Amino acid sequence: MQKSEPTRSAARLGHLEAAVRKAGVKLTHQRLEIFRELASTEAHPDAEGIFKAVRRRVPTVSLDTVYRTLWMLRDLGLVVTLGPNRESLRFDANLERHHHYVCVRCGLVRDFDSEALNALRMPAAVKAFGSVVEAQVEVRGLCERCQSQRSPRAKAEDEPRFAQLKTAGLKGPEQKRKGRRSS
Ligand SMILES: [Zn+2]
Ligand SMILES: [Zn+2]
Repeated sequence: MQKSEPTRSAARLGHLEAAVRKAGVKLTHQRLEIFRELASTEAHPDAEGIFKAVRRRVPTVSLDTVYRTLWMLRDLGLVVTLGPNRESLRFDANLERHHHYVCVRCGLVRDFDSEALNALRMPAAVKAFGSVVEAQVEVRGLCERCQSQRSPRAKAEDEPRFAQLKTAGLKGPEQKRKGRRSS
C-alpha cells in the first residue's frame, strides 16, 4: 500500500495523540499503534485491514480493540468514515478537504485535491433538504492495475463511470423525521 510522506503522517499522528489526550482518553500502547497505522496510510483502510497491519507489530491486539478505538476516534471527530454503500466501512485520517477516487473493482481509494470541485455550486434540489456543510466528490472507475488486468473489450464496457456527489451535514430531513416520530 502506498504510504503518505513521513512528515504528513507524523503530523497526523501528533494531532491524533494530542487530541485524544485532550479528550481525557488514556493512550495505551495498542491504541497508539492503531493511530500510527491510520496516520501512515492513504489507503483508507477498513477495520480489518488496520487490524491485520497492527497485529504484525502487536500480536496481542484484537479486532474488537481496533473497532472500539476507531469508533472512539470517530466520536471525537478525528477520523471520518467513507460509506455507507460499501461492504465495509473505511476510515480516513485525512481531515483536510479532499475528494476521492474509488476503484469499482478492487476498492482502491485515493485522495485528490481540486479547487474546481471545492467551488462546486449546490443545486437547488440539494439546498431544499437543508444546509450543506461540505460536498465531497467520489469519482469511480477502474484503477490502472485493474485496467491492465482486463481485456480491451471488457475495458470499454466498464468505461462510462461517472462522479457521484456525496453531501454531508444535511440535518434538515433527519430532524424532521425525528420530530414526526415523537409527535
Ligand atoms: Zn482497482
Ligand atoms: Zn480521503
